[in-house]
Amino acid sequence: MSGPSGAGKGTLCRTFLNRHPQALFSVSYTTRTMRPGEVDGVDYRFVDRVTFEAMERQGGFVETTEIYGNRYGTPREPIDHHLAAGHDVVVDVDTDGGKWFRRAYPDGVFVFVVAPSRRVLRQRLMRRGVVDQAELSRRLTGGDREMTRAVEYDYLVVNGRLSQSMAALEAIASAERCRMIRQRQLLTQLR
Ligand code: 5GP
Repeated sequence: MSGPSGAGKGTLCRTFLNRHPQALFSVSYTTRTMRPGEVDGVDYRFVDRVTFEAMERQGGFVETTEIYGNRYGTPREPIDHHLAAGHDVVVDVDTDGGKWFRRAYPDGVFVFVVAPSRRVLRQRLMRRGVVDQAELSRRLTGGDREMTRAVEYDYLVVNGRLSQSMAALEAIASAERCRMIRQRQLLTQLR
């Protein structure tokens, strides 16, 4: 999943994961500071730059990026482990990360999440504690940049009312599970 900062991907992911315990969230590493309500090891693994860069040098990340002056990276081992165990893995990355994932996991499902309007996006960022004007406009501009890449995704979910966007996300997940390509084994058993 990707989308502008403030679109509500995090809430959508969390709600989806609570309702689908077989799906697991890929917890990224980041060098940014923890926001109120975030939990280390749940939302992110919060590490300093030295630790991050050491892990990067050792090849511990699938992909890394720098956003708003902070490093983010998807750790390799948990994803491979979860996929091998037959779990769905939910990944929340920026569009550069999304592009990389499309190449690495071509049968993945790529969802772009947007707020219903720029006004709502701004309100959400401010409610989230982004009150500094420079930071706010940096995130809005970054969001505009992300929006230009939305067409590279399979689905667009407008995250207005959570119940509706959740319904859309669950419909996507159900339809994707029914795709013939993912049902070959079942079809053989049914013959
Ligand atoms: P935030 O700081 O608001 O939690 O996240 C900022 C941006 O970083 C979001 O667009 C989010 O999708 C992206 N992000 C979080 N973790 C990763 C990661 O491991 N890799 C990449 N490429 N982007 C990430």
